[in-house]
Formats: sequence, C-alpha cells, structure tokens
Amino acid sequence: RQEQYRALRGLPAETKDGVTIDLMMNAGLTVDLPQLDESGAAGIGLFRTELQFMIASTMPKASAQERLYSAVLDAAGDRPVTFRTLDVGGDKLLPYLRQAPEENPALGYRALRLTLDRPALMRTQLRALLKAAAGRELRVMFPMVADLAEMRQARALVDRELAHLERFGYGVPKTIKLGAMIEVPSLLFQLDALMAMSDFVSIGSNDLFQFFFAVDRGNSHLAGRYDDLAAPFLKVLRSIVEAGERNKTPVTLCGELASRPLSALVLIALGFRSISMAPAAIGPVKAALMQLDVSKFASTVNEFIDANQPGVKLRDRLLQFAATH
Ligand code: PEP
Ligand code: MG
Repeated sequence: RQEQYRALRGLPAETKDGVTIDLMMNAGLTVDLPQLDESGAAGIGLFRTELQFMIASTMPKASAQERLYSAVLDAAGDRPVTFRTLDVGGDKLLPYLRQAPEENPALGYRALRLTLDRPALMRTQLRALLKAAAGRELRVMFPMVADLAEMRQARALVDRELAHLERFGYGVPKTIKLGAMIEVPSLLFQLDALMAMSDFVSIGSNDLFQFFFAVDRGNSHLAGRYDDLAAPFLKVLRSIVEAGERNKTPVTLCGELASRPLSALVLIALGFRSISMAPAAIGPVKAALMQLDVSKFASTVNEFIDANQPGVKLRDRLLQFAATH
C-alpha cells in the first residue's frame, strides 16, 4: 500500500473527469517538514503554531518563533503555507501562561479571544511571521473567529506591525493574505460579510462539527453518535462553498473530514478544490479521487442533502453508488 501511494506522489491530484484538487498537508513542527516531499503535498494548508508553544517550558522568544517560521517557508519553497495564529486555551494549556480553570473550556477563553486580549503575545507572533516572510508571500489565519469585529481587530494588528517594520526599515512580505477559520456557527449567518473582509477562509471542521451538533469532540460516549456526513452539516459546507464562489473568496477545509478518503470525496463533490489533511492521508485521498467522476458523484451527494431523510446515511448511499458505477 505504502509503495503504491509513493508511486502516486509525483502525479497530479486529478479526478477521472479532469478536476484538479490541491491536496495540502497539516503541520506544526520542524519534524513535519520532510513530509512535504514525502507526501507530495501541494503546500501546508494549516500550520498549527501553538505546537512550538506547547512543547516549550517557557514562552518561545520572538527570535525562536521567527526562526521556525523561516524554516517552514524555506522547506516549502514555492508551495504556499498558511500559518494559524496561536490556538491555545480550551484543552491546549500552556504551563507558563496563567489560565484559570474553566467550566466549559471548548467554549471558553481560547484562541483569538485570548490573543486579542493579550496584544503583546499576538503582536510578537505577527511580527515574527512578517519578518520570516520578508520578500515572500505570507498567509495567516485566525482560529475561532466568532464575530466580524474580531476579524477586523486581528487585521488591524497585522497592519500595525507591518507599518512598524516598514518604519524601521525591515524587509516585509511581498504579499499578505489574511483569512478567518470558520469553526463557530455564528459565522454561517454572515458569510458574505465575513468573506468581504477575508482574503480566504478555511473551515475547521473538527470544531465546526463540535459546535454544530453541540457534541464535545473528545467525549467517547458521543463519538459516532452524530454523523459528520449528515445532510444538515453537508448543507452548511455546501453553503460556504457557494458563498466563496459568490464573493470570489477561496474556501478550503483543514479538519479531519479531509483526512478520510470517503469524506474527502464528498468534499470534492460539494465543490471544494483545496483541502488540507494529515500528511499520511494524502496518498489514500489521492488514490481515491483519481478514480472519481465528480459530476456523477456530486448529483448523488446533492440529492442526499436535499432529501434529508431521517436515519438514511450517506455512507450507505455511496456504497450503492460504488456498486452501480
Ligand atoms: C479544526 O477545528 O478542525 C481544526 C483544523 O483545528 P484544530 O483541530 O487544531 O482545532
Ligand atoms: Mg479548531
């Protein structure tokens, strides 16, 4: 199997009917970087910057942050990299950052909520990113945006650091693209406004699913109770793709949903043309999509969403589809 996937590495990720998909990988540490070439990823769709903070015993210095981000961009070369700003709090606690215990950590003081309140932390990170990407493209996204004002505030912090670096004669990125992660359902009801102020959006399907069904993503009693290919959830994903097309805003998805071949194919059927996954998933997903005829498959998926019949699973439908095509 492993050998079989390796053989696909140099081939384009293209479906039977000629649709090309960007298969990106998720990463978070320098040890992940060799996977770029190993997996044949088109780039890094999610770089989880909090990992550097989580394995450290004290707050990583600005210079160490900048060094890591430069190394990531160097390893990626011409391939795009999307850095996510610090996503701590909730269940990701930093021993050296005093955080009070919380009743509902997933709904608590975490990610962008926390970093917007600690501008020193956020600005140090943004400055390290801007410096590391001098002369290159910088793509940054913000986790757990729940409100448009948070996105505006985050963007203003980037502008301020950029102006600061320019004033002191530092090199700055050639282009800067800022995106919002769609993980909180409040954004689903203001997609056009969100996209108007974002250069791209990336769906964090793990958290979005958790908040959509009100199901703790780590609770084993509930694992598997709700289907992440359920019609209403897919309807939401489809509406985000449509909003992206309407607003000409690139839409991608970087949660676990992209890492399983069957659900990755469903995402492609919904119109996703870029998805980001664990590096080990790229081979299996590529092998599956190369067998896919998107247009036929899309009608099956769309019919399933629109029918929304209780108890009917898309997985079963797809088995029937596979038997007849
Ligand atoms: C997600 O929520 O889907 C996501 C990509 O982020 P994380 O799993 O790090 O919360
Ligand atoms: Mg998340």
